[in-house]
Amino acid sequence: MIVERPDFRRLDADIAGEVIVPGRAAYDAARRVWNGMIDKRPLAIVRCAAVDDVQAAITFAASNGVSVAVRGGGHNIAGNATCDNCLVIDLSPMKSIEVDEDRRRARAGGGVHWGEFDAETQRHGLATTGGLMPSTGIAGFTLGGGLGYLMRSYGLACDNLLAAEVVTAAGQRLTASLDQNSDLFWGLRGGGGNFGVVTSFEFQLHEVGPLILAGAIAHPLSRAKDAFRFYRDFSAAVPDSLAVYASLATGPDGAPRMGMRPVFNGPITQGLAAVRPLREFGPPILDDVVPRPYVEVQKFAEPAFPPGRLNYWKANFVDDLSDELIDVVIGSFRRVPSQYSLVVFEHMGGTVARVAETATAFHHRTPAYSLLILSGWLDAADTAANVAWARELWELTRPLSSAGVYVNYLGTEGTQRIRDAYGVNYARLSEVKHKYDSANFFRLNQNIEPAPTLS
Ligand SMILES: Cc1cc2nc3c(=O)[nH]c(=O)nc-3n(C[C@H](O)[C@H](O)[C@H](O)COP(=O)(O)OP(=O)(O)OC[C@H]3O[C@@H](n4cnc5c(N)ncnc54)[C@H](O)[C@@H]3O)c2cc1C
Repeated sequence: MIVERPDFRRLDADIAGEVIVPGRAAYDAARRVWNGMIDKRPLAIVRCAAVDDVQAAITFAASNGVSVAVRGGGHNIAGNATCDNCLVIDLSPMKSIEVDEDRRRARAGGGVHWGEFDAETQRHGLATTGGLMPSTGIAGFTLGGGLGYLMRSYGLACDNLLAAEVVTAAGQRLTASLDQNSDLFWGLRGGGGNFGVVTSFEFQLHEVGPLILAGAIAHPLSRAKDAFRFYRDFSAAVPDSLAVYASLATGPDGAPRMGMRPVFNGPITQGLAAVRPLREFGPPILDDVVPRPYVEVQKFAEPAFPPGRLNYWKANFVDDLSDELIDVVIGSFRRVPSQYSLVVFEHMGGTVARVAETATAFHHRTPAYSLLILSGWLDAADTAANVAWARELWELTRPLSSAGVYVNYLGTEGTQRIRDAYGVNYARLSEVKHKYDSANFFRLNQNIEPAPTLS
């Protein structure tokens, strides 16, 4: 039986956290997510302060026939952390972070952001592969895979996941690890939010910093082609300890430019030698590569991505940064309609590529780069032009890219794109989904259809 407006006061009375309904002062802020394009009105938002609250929320939603969306950091471009006429299970109060320095492990609640995680782990001189924006949630990021500057050294965030505490659609609390519920653990490492609500994550940590060599190098658009060709050859030959992201963006002077962002995870003297060719090429119009605290490096992207701006993203993985692809992106960027839009190549390889494609649910192990077309603008009147620019560039790059796409960069793009994201692992993911969520209770996500095991 579907009840249109359940009595959320009953849920509120049952939990340590709070339920925010329309009309409450906090409702408008609580329903917003990072992407200003998303404007949805949930029936209620339940801010869970403990695992019991998550169980109560799931049981309440199931017994009232209400759909749920799950919110970690609220950063997802598709806006799946919120929804119309549903219950949002919001983990933002679950902020605990415990670091075990001796065992180099950290356990963090499902509402922790990367800025919070990095600050705490760096107090011990440790870190793991994390997001480039401090306000990105560890939850959605890790469940989708998790690409960051340290991935070439240590693998993706999901490769560093040791265990997760999960509340299933049946309201059951499970531990997922290599030893317990290992099929669920496999699915959580790249299968997104399909299998349950993850209330805590345990990560492997590594010695990082506190100072690492990093910064920006920029060239004018007129030299972008040569710079990209140099970047292609350079980035293919560097050690795992060096990651170099490349981009096209509008500089502070209003002129478009090609940028490279080297981040060296290791001794500063080795880093200086490793990045020297990059700094000598050109000469660049900007070079601010210096030793910096790792936590500062992890905030580089923050000014470019304020919350609430209108955003539309397209993405693909790229095996070969061909001359043709370079020409296409530069040609398109000459016509970019907004100063806030970027094209980014995330430098993959290294440890990421040494994991078998079926070892975790995240299977995109071999691409050299992840290509991101990030369209951002301020005025809703400009939406059509900015979306069209991103779509057109993506169409042009498609034949020059791999078919795969990173699930965390997907918008609302249909079932084929979801299958492209899960790729060779889709059938096994469907079986895991069937085992843990056969009724597809967790469906407001990049959804995997449950399918029983055939054998
Ligand atoms: C500015 C910006 C920068 C980014 N940079 C990077 C980057 O460097 N590398 C990278 O890999 N990605 C990056 N991303 C993408 C990011 O990984 C995804 O947006 C990711 O989904 C964010 O996680 P979240 O918890 O903040 O998202 P949310 O929007 O809260 O959640 C996204 C989805 O994850 C699931 N989910 C969230 N929390 C839980 C939970 N506790 N249990 C179960 N399911 C859950 C749900 O299905 C939800 O719909 C970036 C995004 C933005 C906006």
